[in-house]
This record gives sequence, structure tokens and C-alpha cells, in this order.
Amino acid sequence: MPGMNYVGRFAPSPTGPLHAGSLVAALASYLDARVHRGQWLVRIEDVDEGRAVPGVAAGMLDLLQRLGMQWDGEVLWQSRRTARYAAAAERLGTHAYACGCNRREIADSRLGIAADGAAIYPGTCRHGLPAGKSLRALRLRVPDPDQPDGVITFEDRCAGPVRQVLAREVGDFVLKRADGYWAYQLAVVVDDAEQGVTDVVRGADLLDSTARQIYLQHLLGYPVPRYLHLPVVRNANGEKLSKQTGAAAISADSADEALAVLCAAARFIGLDVAGAGTLAGFWERALAGWDARFGPAAR
Ligand code: GLU
Repeated sequence: MPGMNYVGRFAPSPTGPLHAGSLVAALASYLDARVHRGQWLVRIEDVDEGRAVPGVAAGMLDLLQRLGMQWDGEVLWQSRRTARYAAAAERLGTHAYACGCNRREIADSRLGIAADGAAIYPGTCRHGLPAGKSLRALRLRVPDPDQPDGVITFEDRCAGPVRQVLAREVGDFVLKRADGYWAYQLAVVVDDAEQGVTDVVRGADLLDSTARQIYLQHLLGYPVPRYLHLPVVRNANGEKLSKQTGAAAISADSADEALAVLCAAARFIGLDVAGAGTLAGFWERALAGWDARFGPAAR
């Protein structure tokens, strides 16, 4: 599809160095952008400045370059964009409301557990802060199941059709946290839209977040990107690789090491990179493999 408008991105949180799981997201988003002759942007999701580890983002950028993944344009840093998130929250008007509940009060409501493991918000502050409570967080009111957008559906390029009933599966979610940081869900939607992102390629751990993001895109009048969620990389215990589960940091100090980590990530995606003896050989095989599965002709 020559001339097709494609903007992709890789958006790591600099809370720990890249591991095998985040490398899969980087590689897949890079390959998808390149086979569509699009742009590939890198955005450092350091909106939660309390969790960002100094030096980690610079190490990630250095590693991407050593592996041969060069991004287009300037790297965007979420920590520098808080005024944009505030402006978007303002535009949400009465869809957003002040909430004074703490974690314990929400957990005590026993409304159930959302897909992401958080307790579903019982709606205590939906109609105004009750006497004695003061503002802690900003929340988004989600529609009832029978209202427009009450059920969000989309077609994922890898996971297939997805459907989520926001009120039942998520509940009113946080836009600005009690610690003062803007929430991932709002920041990611504002940044994807302002960067003109057309295609989001990331791990399936974020599949559950996508309906929330689509709802916010509708409210803010943003276009909805296409989504591709790849299965997440798990360790031998079946846990998602993350800093919390002790995932090892990727290192690529030599060309051999770089090739080995890239081949492992490609094999996880199911790309045949056998016989790649050099980085150039790897990229040729990986691009051809991705193109056959997810390229313009496969759409
Ligand atoms: N920053 C998120 C993470 O590292 C990814 C965000 C996204 O791709 O939407 O898990």
C-alpha cells in the first residue's frame, strides 16, 4: 500500500531496563512500521516520575540503536507534557469528576475486580464529593452498558475481535492519581493522538486497557488507531516478564550478543530467522517474516 499513512511507536516506561518482553514489543512495533514504510516513534513513558529510574531511559535508547532500531524524529518524554494532559482532562468536562475515596474504601465496596486487578470503583463520588471527603483523584465516568459506548468493540490485528463492557469490567477509572501524576490511560491517548499514531503494536498485557483508551479517544474527538496486541512473554513459572518478576535486563555489548537477543525475540513472535549470521541478515529475514504475516498485503 504505497503512500499509506502509517505512524507507529514504541512507548517504554523507564522503570527498569528493557527485558525480553519489552524487546518483543519494540521489535514488533519497529517491524510493522518498516514493512508499512511508515514512521516509528519512540516515547518515554515517564509520566510517573516517582517510578522512573534515572539513567534507564538513556540506556533503552542506546540499546535500541545498538540493535539497529533507529527511531524517526525526536523522542517524546511524557514528564514534559503534563500541561497537555491537564488540557485534555479539562476538555472532558463533566465526564470527569473529583473522587475522595482511598484504596481501602474502594476495596471494601466489593463490586468486583477489574481485568487489570484493581477493585471496581463503586461510584461513591460520582454525584459530587460527599461531605467530609476531599479531592484525591480525578476519575472518568463510564457509560452504563445500554448507553452509547457502554460496550466498546474493536478488531485487534492479532487477537481478533475484542469486546468490553466498561461499567462491568472496568468501572469509573482514574485520570489523575492521588499522588498527583496523570494516569497512563489519559497520557497514552493524548500522546498517540498528538503524535498522529495510526498503529499501536504492543503486548497483550495492554489489551484490557484498549477499550478505555478508545472511549477516551471518542470523548476527546481523536481518531482510533489500529491495534495489534502480541501474546506476552512469560517466564518458566508462567508469569509475565517484568521487573517485578525479576526479568533479566537485555545486554548487547557485542554484535553476537545483539544478534542473539534479536533472534530470541523474533522466534518468540514466530518469525523464522534461522541462518541469520549478521545483524543485516537478521533484519532481512525478520522484515520478510513480519511482512508475510502482518504486512500491507496481509490486511
Ligand atoms: N508504557 C507502557 C509499558 O511500558 C506501554 C504503553 C503502550 O504501549 O501503550 O508497559
